[in-house]
Amino acid sequence: MLHIVLFGPPGSGKGTQAERLVRTHHFVSLSVGLLLRQQVAENGPDKALIEQYMHHGRLVPDAISLKLVLQVIQAQPVAQSILYDGFPRNVNQATYLDAVLPTYHKKIDAVIFLDVPEALLLERLRNRAIIEGRIDDQDDTKIRTRMDTYARETLPVINYYQSQHKLHKVDGSQQPDQIAQIIEAILASYGNT
Ligand code: AMP
Repeated sequence: MLHIVLFGPPGSGKGTQAERLVRTHHFVSLSVGLLLRQQVAENGPDKALIEQYMHHGRLVPDAISLKLVLQVIQAQPVAQSILYDGFPRNVNQATYLDAVLPTYHKKIDAVIFLDVPEALLLERLRNRAIIEGRIDDQDDTKIRTRMDTYARETLPVINYYQSQHKLHKVDGSQQPDQIAQIIEAILASYGNT
């Protein structure tokens, strides 16, 4: 059983690697971005509020995202490995996860940080806007806000996990196959999923 955080800025390739890991290992993927988009698609009670934040590239209030995360964690058997994709995104969320996981006999084992230079991120997000049509990728102002949010609120999470000796930094500008190989090696060092 492993609990792995896939961490990185918007456009760093978290989603691509998460998809692979779910295919090749027995991970359940917990993507807060996806859960939020589902809430919007299903007209969930917080739809309007979620849209307001997401469309502007800002973090949805913790009360909403933590509730969704907890529902997924609670629904998993103790032995289930979980891949956290795009969560935690601020220190409060990381602290919450550390506080709540022991209740379910779980803990974060490792954090894989996909590090990508900003110029490449911008290029990837602009391409994704064309391919996937995501509203929050649609214009440079929204992309810029997400980058700023990442720098201000999410980057401090790196120090949080570094001080716990759980951080693995991976050069995310490489090809997806190469990145996947490096991630495999990291996972292998923790034993089986
Ligand atoms: P993503 O699909 O991971 O790129 O996330 C898309 C958007 O969902 C972000 O720009 C935020 O508005 C929101 N979001 C995703 N994850 C979180 C989170 N952990 N906390 C708050 N908001 C989030």
